[in-house]
Amino acid sequence: MLDDANPKSQLFINGEWVSALDGGTADVFCPADQRLIATISLGRAADIDLAVQAADAAFKGAWADTPARQRGLLLSRLADLMEREKEVIARLEALEIGRPYREPLMVDIPSAISTLRYFAGWADKLDGRVLSSPDHFGRPVHAYTTRIPVGVVGAILPWNAPTMIACWKLAPALAAGCTVVLKPALEAPLAILYLARLIEEAGFPAGVVNIVAGTGPDAGAALVSHPLVAKISFTGSPATGRAIACKAAESFTPVTLELGGKAPQLVFPGVDVAQTALALALGIFSNQGEICAAGSRILVHKSIEAELTAALKAEAEARVLGHPLDSGTTMGALISERQMETVSGYIESGRAEGARIVTGGAALDGPGHFMRPTVFADVTNSMRIAREEIFGPVAVVIGFETEEEAIALANDSQYGLSANIFTEDLRTAHRVAAKVRAGTVWVNGGGTPDPRSVWGGGGLSGMGRELGLSALQSHMTEKSICVLL
Ligand code: NAD
Repeated sequence: MLDDANPKSQLFINGEWVSALDGGTADVFCPADQRLIATISLGRAADIDLAVQAADAAFKGAWADTPARQRGLLLSRLADLMEREKEVIARLEALEIGRPYREPLMVDIPSAISTLRYFAGWADKLDGRVLSSPDHFGRPVHAYTTRIPVGVVGAILPWNAPTMIACWKLAPALAAGCTVVLKPALEAPLAILYLARLIEEAGFPAGVVNIVAGTGPDAGAALVSHPLVAKISFTGSPATGRAIACKAAESFTPVTLELGGKAPQLVFPGVDVAQTALALALGIFSNQGEICAAGSRILVHKSIEAELTAALKAEAEARVLGHPLDSGTTMGALISERQMETVSGYIESGRAEGARIVTGGAALDGPGHFMRPTVFADVTNSMRIAREEIFGPVAVVIGFETEEEAIALANDSQYGLSANIFTEDLRTAHRVAAKVRAGTVWVNGGGTPDPRSVWGGGGLSGMGRELGLSALQSHMTEKSICVLL
C-alpha cells in the first residue's frame, strides 16, 4: 500500500471525503509488478448523483458568488500546490500507470501547472460585447452580450495521462465559472485523488470540484445521462466516445470528445537522421506508446528509409524496460494484461499481413506487462497496423517518393489528431503543414500541447477543442440583452 504517499482513498464529494454509499471498493495494481498499491472507494450511480447535486448547488451558490478574480487566484494557488507536490503526484502516476517516473515529473505535471496558470489569467477577462449604434429598424438601443458559464461539467478521464488531462478539463471549466464532477478511470485514480487533496487545501468552495472514481458503464454512464449535467468533456477511446455522444444527444447535452490517433510522422530528405530517429523514438515509445498523439505511422522518403529505419532500431534497442521508479528505466509496462493481448494481436496481424519486424515484436518474460519496443518495416498503409490505433510501443515505417504521396498517405486515415513533419526546408514545412489533416501539426519534434493553443481532432479523433480560448468558449454560452432607449 502507498503509505508513504498516502493518497486519500475515498470519494471527494461536496468538499468531504466519503465512502461509496454501498461501501464498494476497488483495488489498484501497479502494472510493472502487479503489486496492490491501493484500495479505493468505488463510486456508483448513486454517488454520482450526490456529486452532481453538490456541483449544481455550488454552481448556483458559492461559486456563482465567488468573484472571477478569486476564481483565478484559486487556480493559481492550485498550480503552486502542484508545484510543491509534483514528486508525490509523479510517483503515484508512475506507479498506477507503469510509466517511468521522470515522464509525469518532467512533462505531464509541468503541462498541468502551466494550464492552470494560463486559465487562471483568463478568469476575470471573459467579457461580452457592446452594440451601441441603432438597430436595423433605426431605433436607438443599448445592446450587449454577456458570457455565462454553462453549469455542471461532467469530465471523464482516460488512464494514460490522468493528471495533465484532468487539468486540461478543470482549468477552463473553473475559470469560466462552471463546477465539475470528475470521473477518473479505475486503472489510474490515485494521482487524481491526490489532486483532490490539493483542491481542498487551495480553498475551493465545497462542491466546486467533486471526484468520483468508478467504472465507465456505471458511474461514467450515470454522469453522462444526469439531467443536471450541462456539458460532457470526455477523453478516451472512439468506441466510448461514440456511446457517450449518442447518449448525450438524447438531452442535447454538448460534448467535447478527445479520442484516439494514428499520428503520421512525415520525414523528408535532408534531415539529421540520428536526431530525427531520437525524436521519433520519443514520439512512439514514451508512455509505452499509450498516448493518443503517439507517432505510430512513420512516413519516410525512400532515399533515407533504410538509414532511418536502422537508426530507429538502435533507438528502440537502447530503451531500458523496467520498474517505473528505477532511475535507469526509460520505458515502463503496459497498463494491463488485456492491453498486452491487444498489442500482441496487432503484432501478429502485422506479421500475417507481410510486414517485417525490424526489432521487438515480443513481450519480456517475468511479471509485469512489458512489451519490447517494436518497429515494423515493409508496411503498406492498408495493413491494420497502419490503420488502427494500437496504443502500444509499435511503430510502422512506410516509404514514399514524392511530397504529394506523403500527404496522401498521411491523410489516408480515419484519425486526425496530430502529425509531425521533419524537414530542414521551411517551404516544405509550411506547405505540408497546411495540407495534412490534423488538429495539431508539429514540425521537427513533438511535445505536449501548448495551453495557449488548442488540442483536438476530427474523424475518429473526436470533436471540439480543449485548451486555449476555444476551451473557455465551450464552457460558456453567449447571451444577448437589448435595451430600447
Ligand atoms: P476508454 O474509452 O476505455 O475509457 C475512458 C473513460 O471512459 C474511463 O474513465 C472509462 O471508465 C469511461 N467510460 C467507459 N465506458 C463509459 C460509458 N459507457 N459512459 C461513460 N464513461 C465511460 O479509454 P481508455 O482506454 O481509458 O483510454 C485510451 C483511449 O483514450 C485511447 O483511444 C487514446 O487515444 C484516448 N486518449 C485520447 C486523448 C486525446 O487528447 N485525444 C488523450 C489520452 C487518451
